[in-house]
Amino acid sequence: MSRVAYVNGQYLPHCSGAVHIEDRGYQFADGVYEVMAVVGGFLLDEGPHLMRLARSLAELQISAPMSNAALRIVMREVIRRNGVHNGIVYVQITRGVAARDHGFPKAAGPVLVVTSRWKRPADPRAVNDGVAVITIPDIRWQRCDIKSVALLPNVLGKQRAKEAGAFEAWQVDREGKVSEGTSTNAWIVTLDDTVVTRQADSAILNGVTRLAVLDIIRREGYGFVERPFSVAEAKSAREAFLTSTVVDLLPVLRIDGTAVGNGEPGPLSRKLRECYLAHAASAK
Ligand code: PLP
Repeated sequence: MSRVAYVNGQYLPHCSGAVHIEDRGYQFADGVYEVMAVVGGFLLDEGPHLMRLARSLAELQISAPMSNAALRIVMREVIRRNGVHNGIVYVQITRGVAARDHGFPKAAGPVLVVTSRWKRPADPRAVNDGVAVITIPDIRWQRCDIKSVALLPNVLGKQRAKEAGAFEAWQVDREGKVSEGTSTNAWIVTLDDTVVTRQADSAILNGVTRLAVLDIIRREGYGFVERPFSVAEAKSAREAFLTSTVVDLLPVLRIDGTAVGNGEPGPLSRKLRECYLAHAASAK
């Protein structure tokens, strides 16, 4: 089955889907996006993703290209045309096409692209054995709560992680506190079994997976606190893990080469992963 993309009103072969050379997303990274999981043919946590998309658009004063009801139809059609059962949907909205000028253009309308693809099966080694992270300075702007397509620091950070043989890079703010990964939220479990993740301020993207895991933690009655934590605290934590739509929940076993806990996936990370996968399996 060949891939199909939705590009501003048309369903096109993925290989010929294209936007204008003066699209502001291309020239200024003037746009936002969402990545949603498709589980068993259904979109997981569609409501929270659409709410975050609306918030990102509003923060940047980009108008929505269509209603949520229409977007839901387009996403389902892209999923259907691509025959995706388990995978992701990518939604990108830019401010539109206009002669290059920094100020908002008067006449341009938003440009919407929707794609979908099968998710690569999770690497069983990562799932069973956990992953390593490195720490890097957080060099991003001060509105990381907006899911903007301006991802260059994240790209550079992920590349540094790759080159260091790690899965992810945890970004560290000027106070020495971990903000988040380059495409994941960061978590630790303290020695008294309290789950800690940074509060959803403008230093992090408020992950939809993060919100789902927080709900699970509340429901299961585990102790938790939303606050910043330092690299030193993370290295001496009992457990650490990371979350995102694409990777679900993965235990973090090494931070800058230092083993976390006993260097194996901890019981709380395993339990929360199990609960999250059950939540994902209930998508409908
Ligand atoms: N933090 C950043 C910087 C991200 O890019 C992402 C996902 O793309 C996340 C966190 C996790 O968000 P979500 O759980 O909604 O996928």
